[in-house]
Amino acid sequence: KYYNMVNDMKGKIRVYCRIRPMCWAETAQGGAIIVERLDQYSVSVVTPRGLREFQFDQVFSEESSQEDVFQDINRLIQSAIDGYNVCIFAYGQTGSGKTFSMVGDRDQRNPGIMPRAFNAIFDIIQENATKFECKVSAYMLELYNDRLQDLFVSGAGAQTRRVEIKRNRKGLVFAQGAETKEASSAGELFAMFQQACASRHITATKMNVESSRSHLIIGIMLESRNLTNGSVSFGKLSLVDLAGSERAAKTGARDDQLKEATSINKSLSALGDVISALSLELPHIPYRNSKLTQIMQDSLGGNAKTLMIVNVSPCDCNLEETLTSLTYATRVK
Ligand code: ADP
Ligand code: MG
Repeated sequence: KYYNMVNDMKGKIRVYCRIRPMCWAETAQGGAIIVERLDQYSVSVVTPRGLREFQFDQVFSEESSQEDVFQDINRLIQSAIDGYNVCIFAYGQTGSGKTFSMVGDRDQRNPGIMPRAFNAIFDIIQENATKFECKVSAYMLELYNDRLQDLFVSGAGAQTRRVEIKRNRKGLVFAQGAETKEASSAGELFAMFQQACASRHITATKMNVESSRSHLIIGIMLESRNLTNGSVSFGKLSLVDLAGSERAAKTGARDDQLKEATSINKSLSALGDVISALSLELPHIPYRNSKLTQIMQDSLGGNAKTLMIVNVSPCDCNLEETLTSLTYATRVK
């Protein structure tokens, strides 16, 4: 019944914008709300030079719930099970709500896209148990300074193990050297994710880096076998919580912070270049310019369905970064 709408998304990149509520610190310092949802498709920003407007496929305000945001995403989960590559990623400066949107709050009182997607996957599988069988497996990686780290491996092995990006004969990208784990329930998948977060935190602390300075990349592979005719389809759901897009402070940054900032800038602009090349339908798509775009290659363009969520703060104190994020996002159009 939703087949047509799903088909419409093929090869297209949709962009949502989500404005989070003012946070305590913003209110405490007397910040003003300058970013507002005008209607379903547009956002307005008050700037010193006047009002600016940005258009999106969907705009969520501070009043939108996690459920509201997930409503249309449910269809994408179905697509991944049907054999499409689906990619959902969150873009924005640190503190703009990327992790809230992708994962939810700390105590999971407001679960985000990831736990909802995990539930949806297994709900769909269960509902169709008489029609098909589906094997679910996952890898969870972190990309920091152009280095891929397997979050299923922690401790001493994690630093030395090399993860490389390869493509298999079906055209699916896979992380060679990274562990893939099978899951038989949404709970199991989420437990894996929590374990991965714990190992991400340990490595980050050891290396003295903020987790907001690395990209989190989760791949859920879905291999379904039709029980009537035996045909098999492969789909993949990629969930990506990108590193904060803010520019590094030019003064006072240590060497390693500059290296980190350069690496993040490079990967995010490579991602922007790929997305804009796809939307302009250019003959050459520059996937090879960064590891981020290489690992997301099978989920951007082609038959893939991509959803980018641009997260922004409503406060005037973040005006510049908000304009940068909204402008980045509109390159897609
Ligand atoms: P990021 O991952 O982009 O750095 P977070 O997701 O950690 O940002 O969000 C920063 C803070 O704002 C967190 O305390 C988070 O719980 C809160 N927050 C973000 N978005 C929302 C929202 N839509 N509703 C309520 N709180 C939010
Ligand atoms: Mg975060």
